[in-house]
Amino acid sequence: MEHKLEKQLRDLEKKGVDRRSFVKILSAAGLLSIAGTQKAKAFSSKATGKIVIIGGGAAGISMAARLKHWLKEPDIQLIDPSDRQYYQPGFTLIASGVYQPDEVWKKQKDCMPSGITWIKDSVLAVDPVWNQVITKAHGKISYDFLVLTPGLQINWTEVEGITQPTLGQGNAHCIYDYEGAQKTWKALQDFSKTGGKGVFTDTYTKHKCGGAPKKICLLTEHYNRKQGTRDKVTLDYYTAEKELYDVPYFTKRLLEIYKERHIPIHTNVRVKGVDTAAKQVHFEQISTVGDQKIYTPFVEDYDFLHFTPPMSAPDFVRQSGLGWTEGKLAAGSWVMVDKETLIHKKFQNIVSLGDVAGVPTSKTSAAVRKQVPVAAKNLISIMEGKEPVEKYDGYAACPIVTDYGHVLLCEFNYDKEPEVSFPFSLLDTSKEQWAAWLLKVYILKPLYFHGMLNGYA
Ligand SMILES: Cc1cc2nc3c(=O)[nH]c(=O)nc-3n(C[C@H](O)[C@H](O)[C@H](O)COP(=O)(O)OP(=O)(O)OC[C@H]3O[C@@H](n4cnc5c(N)ncnc54)[C@H](O)[C@@H]3O)c2cc1C
Repeated sequence: MEHKLEKQLRDLEKKGVDRRSFVKILSAAGLLSIAGTQKAKAFSSKATGKIVIIGGGAAGISMAARLKHWLKEPDIQLIDPSDRQYYQPGFTLIASGVYQPDEVWKKQKDCMPSGITWIKDSVLAVDPVWNQVITKAHGKISYDFLVLTPGLQINWTEVEGITQPTLGQGNAHCIYDYEGAQKTWKALQDFSKTGGKGVFTDTYTKHKCGGAPKKICLLTEHYNRKQGTRDKVTLDYYTAEKELYDVPYFTKRLLEIYKERHIPIHTNVRVKGVDTAAKQVHFEQISTVGDQKIYTPFVEDYDFLHFTPPMSAPDFVRQSGLGWTEGKLAAGSWVMVDKETLIHKKFQNIVSLGDVAGVPTSKTSAAVRKQVPVAAKNLISIMEGKEPVEKYDGYAACPIVTDYGHVLLCEFNYDKEPEVSFPFSLLDTSKEQWAAWLLKVYILKPLYFHGMLNGYA
């Protein structure tokens, strides 16, 4: 039976959440403190200068809103080509039938903070020496200070045999795409009727929300149990990593869950390609001999496949010489920022955050929520000619949905220590919780649209 609080939250959600009902939702859930409107207004600066923001997703819009609160005379231009603002964590819930597709996006023009100039265009290059951005349609745009937040690039072509427009062919799916998430939900329901072999994979590069491939695997398992068809399907999870999850506080329970649900985990395996006609996935087993990596090919049949493509910083970041050129983050050309201040290591007038930032933590909008105040304050310090002193501790969160009704709320920092940011201190967060499910399904989306994007959360 549905709990009273869940019903209350669902009813509020159904009405369509505006700012007033958002506040009601937070107070119903006892979470009013996380909106932080007072804190956002408690600081101001007379610093001046032209700020250009590249990318208006979670990080770009939140930065624009926060800088607008904090600067007395904001002069901000934001470049982004998209008509829509997507709440991407909702893609997993579309793919499992919890959200309808139209519930996860708003018009970009309605998310843009007032007083910010939106240039609807794509950036092709940055010239950090001459402080210029080169755009597709508006030519060169100069800046005094640059906020680099274009998110990441999904490299679909690096998986042979399938690409973004052909998602769904041969029952091969991916929820890292809005259309792909919708196709996954249809296929997941069909799979429970036909039964067969389900194969789930992650990828060998850093990717946004590392938990997403695990979530869709666990939700598929539970969906089949709910339909009474679990014995008709087998499920296998393949990871390119040496272990399922690398935050020990949560890994123990996650491994138990996979074991309890009879989902074998195969480590050190990456996807090379998909033969959609033959319904076969081509893998490579990764082994190390000395300091050399050996890739041994093998093939698996499947009836339902969920795969994750490799990801990197957008090409223009690498081409503009803004990415790491050495160390673990060089392969994806992630932006070369100081991991605490988020200021570029070579160019002091550039700050970068969100998925594109080259920092050793998970790429999540939860991380963005904590990065924004640090990046905004440090940028303002630089505008004032001072040293940046605010420090980001690597906080990221990944609410791993373990079934329809429970979430393992993985919150952690650079040291991979648990870091609780929601008022759940009375709960054992090393285990999946119903309260965290309520947070994931009913709270985080309105928190995104009405809190974060307004520079408040
Ligand atoms: C399936 C899935 C599940 C997820 N689950 C979770 C979760 O449970 N919890 C969580 O916290 N996070 C989750 N995330 C991750 C989260 O959505 C991202 O980490 C977050 O959106 C990153 O914000 P960003 O601003 O860096 O990038 P984005 O939000 O992707 O925004 C990038 C923006 O830059 C623009 N842009 C791109 N290229 C250019 C260019 N050349 N010029 C100008 N503009 C450009 C784009 O149009 C876009 O508006 C999930 C993501 C996916 C896909």
